[in-house]
Amino acid sequence: MKKDKILVIGACGQIGVELTLALRKMYGDNNVVASDLREEHELLKGSGPYVSLDVMNKEMLHVLVIRHNITQIYLLAAILSATGEKNPLLAWHINMQSLLNVLDIAKEEGIDKVYWPSSIAVFGPNSPKTETPQHTIIEPTTIYGISKFAGERWCEYYNHRYGIDVRSLRYPGLISYKSAPGGGTTDYAIEIFHDALESKSYNCFLKEDTYLPMMYMPDAIRATIELMEAPKENIKIRSSYNLGAMSFSPKEIAAEIGKHVPGFRISYEPDYRQQIADGWPGSIDDEAARKDWGWKHEFDLEKMTVDMLKNLKK
Ligand code: NAD
Repeated sequence: MKKDKILVIGACGQIGVELTLALRKMYGDNNVVASDLREEHELLKGSGPYVSLDVMNKEMLHVLVIRHNITQIYLLAAILSATGEKNPLLAWHINMQSLLNVLDIAKEEGIDKVYWPSSIAVFGPNSPKTETPQHTIIEPTTIYGISKFAGERWCEYYNHRYGIDVRSLRYPGLISYKSAPGGGTTDYAIEIFHDALESKSYNCFLKEDTYLPMMYMPDAIRATIELMEAPKENIKIRSSYNLGAMSFSPKEIAAEIGKHVPGFRISYEPDYRQQIADGWPGSIDDEAARKDWGWKHEFDLEKMTVDMLKNLKK
């Protein structure tokens, strides 16, 4: 029987660090190879194998997969929404080519499973704004959303055409305290905690009533692992699953933080990210994920706020 050997690409990012550590706990430290362009993240040091890798270099990736007898690939490297708008062609190039490199090597080497995250950014201004359904109008207006939507189509194509077991989630904005966010439009919901504790004030780059779907990182890690561990026949959607937990506005999260940080004040100075947020859903219908593989979130705004503040104060 083939032993599971996992490669995480983009392991030093906001999701990568926590996902790598969680996978190492499950599969054993030496069976999860972390890789990234960047230097190894502090939290990963000493926890398992680390390889410096540019996922755009297909040959190098291919050699790595063969040399380590990789059986599963988690591709997390990407250019995120806000950064993508600053250099659209680069975002398109990196987001698409990284996925095509991975899918093609998965096909050539008979990789058992591939994970690649999509995003709520696939939806656009013409999609229903509340409880956005799994299947609806998908007309993304950011380059990030366009690349995620195209990526979803490629994932489904590789599954249908070549039988690759590729699985995907449309993450909402992810909130975490362990590793820094990588240039997304929902990053405000992380910065706000740091600034609240440092200076009791936060200047928000979105308007007070901008509702966006969000999720606490422990839920996102668990969702990813539960999706990947689910029996193959339960995975009915091979593009990407809607995934939800909570939805709030800057005004609401500020009020929640204010319950624990007396005197906390928020001000608003919307920038180019407001336009990105305006095109995205306010909340998500994730019925298919709940039905197909039993998704259930644990953290709401209240519970997450308590946990974030507790951990950031440490
Ligand atoms: P991040 O920017 O924090 O991390 C991405 C990592 O990929 C970085 O460490 C970066 O150094 C690495 N990387 C970039 N280019 C690379 C290359 N050419 N070769 C190797 N590594 C490279 O991003 P994240 O927040 O951890 O997101 C991971 C995935 O989840 C992305 O696909 C992103 O689109 C998706 N996602 C994230 C969120 C969120 O809120 N964080 C929401 C929706 C979807």
